[in-house]
Amino acid sequence: MRIAVISDTHANLIALQRVLAAIDDLQTDALWCLGDIVGYGPHPQACADIIRERADVCLAGNHDLAVTGKIDLDDFNPVAREAALWQRGQLNDETMQWLASLPIRTEAEGITLAHGSPRHPVWEYVMDEETAGENYDAFDTPVCLIGHSHRAMGWRMTRASRHVKVEWIAEEPGVPLMVDAHAKWLLNPGSVGQPRDQDPRASFATLETESRAWTWHRVEYDIEAVERAIIDVGLPEMLGRRLYLGW
Ligand code: ZN
Repeated sequence: MRIAVISDTHANLIALQRVLAAIDDLQTDALWCLGDIVGYGPHPQACADIIRERADVCLAGNHDLAVTGKIDLDDFNPVAREAALWQRGQLNDETMQWLASLPIRTEAEGITLAHGSPRHPVWEYVMDEETAGENYDAFDTPVCLIGHSHRAMGWRMTRASRHVKVEWIAEEPGVPLMVDAHAKWLLNPGSVGQPRDQDPRASFATLETESRAWTWHRVEYDIEAVERAIIDVGLPEMLGRRLYLGW
C-alpha cells in the first residue's frame, strides 16, 4: 500500500491543488492528513471541502480546533488569531462540525498519527532530539507520523537498556528512506501550505507499507497568487511574505 501523507495545509488552496496533482501522478492508494487544514491562509472552505472529500484518515490540528472554538484563541500569536477569527466567518456549519469531530491522534495500518507529538498531540513541537526521545514511550507502533512544526524531517530511535538513542534524519526529497523495523520512528512530511524549513516549496511524503520506504516530496507552486489572495481578503500581509522565505 502506498500512502500519501500531508499536513499543515493552512488554507493554502493553490499549494494543496499542486500537491494533490503530484500525489495523483504517484498513484497512491490512500491519503492521510495530519491536521491544520485551516488557519493562516485565504481559502479555508475550499481546502476543507477537498480534504474532507479525499482524505481516508484525517486529524485535527491546533488551528482547526481554534477556528471551531474548541481551544482558546488566546494561546495564539496575534496574526494567527486574526486569521482564525476571519476564517470562522468563512466556514459553513457543516465544515465547522466536521473539523470539531476530527481526532487529534489515531492509528491506521499499524501506524500512529498525531498532529504535534504522540504524548501531546495538540501543542508539542518535535524539533530536537531531546523532545523526540521523550516521546519514545508515547506510542506503541514502529512509526508515528507527526506534523505541526512545518519542517520535513524525522528521527530514528533505539533503546539500549534505559537509554534512548535518537538520530535526526534530514530530508532528502525524492530519496527513499528505509524505515527499518529495528527502531521506532517519528516522521514529519513537512507542510503543504506554509513550510518553515527554509524551502518554500510545498512538502508532502509517501510511505510504502510493504517495502517500508518513506519519501519526502517537494513541489513548487504559485506563491505570488497566494500572496495576492491573502491581501485581497484582508489578512495580514506578512502571511504572504513568509511563504517566499519558507519560514
Ligand atoms: Zn500548522
